[in-house]
Amino acid sequence: MPLHVLHHPLAEHVLTHLRDQTTKPALFRTLSYQISLLLALEATRDLATVEKRIDTPLAPCTGRVLAQPIAIVPILRAGLGMVQPFLDLFPDVSVGYVGLERDHTTAIARSYYCKLPPLDGKRVLVIDPMLATGGSAAQALDVVKSAGAKEVAYVCIVGAPEGIAVVEKAHPEVPIFIGAVDRTLNAKKYILPGLGDFGDRLYGT
Ligand code: URA
Repeated sequence: MPLHVLHHPLAEHVLTHLRDQTTKPALFRTLSYQISLLLALEATRDLATVEKRIDTPLAPCTGRVLAQPIAIVPILRAGLGMVQPFLDLFPDVSVGYVGLERDHTTAIARSYYCKLPPLDGKRVLVIDPMLATGGSAAQALDVVKSAGAKEVAYVCIVGAPEGIAVVEKAHPEVPIFIGAVDRTLNAKKYILPGLGDFGDRLYGT
């Protein structure tokens, strides 16, 4: 499946300010909203629609409306920073949660929470801003597939080539929608240049 990298001047502008270490949490949350909205549009570009007959104030008209239900599954906690634009764009969206915590010494993800709506028949978007080692991403994709998701995509803001390769190997049919592909991971498995710890910057911790 191709990697869909966001190409939009606004995405570059927003990402630069997200990366800037002087950006404070309030602005960081706004910028996260903006780039996630662009990603949400990209990741749903091919949603199915059906014809609908309506009357405008002047004439009958055939339009199209969304036909496919959507579920988003943010990976706790950083994924929460990407939820709101999906709720605003798709009011009927179902939201599930997967809690995966990265051990700061081993960088291996541990599952501590899972609450999912019915996923069969839905377009399922697993969302997490930072695709670093790919361990959490691959694990979250395993979880949603085991719960019945068949049409799944992964949406993130910044990724490292190492993490992208892990997801592509474990889930080759899952498209990845990404704001930017960065250089590499550092020794602590943070993305370079990246933007630091997304959850910490989002919540000021
Ligand atoms: N998680 C983050 O928040 N930042 C990284 O660089 C990698 C994982």
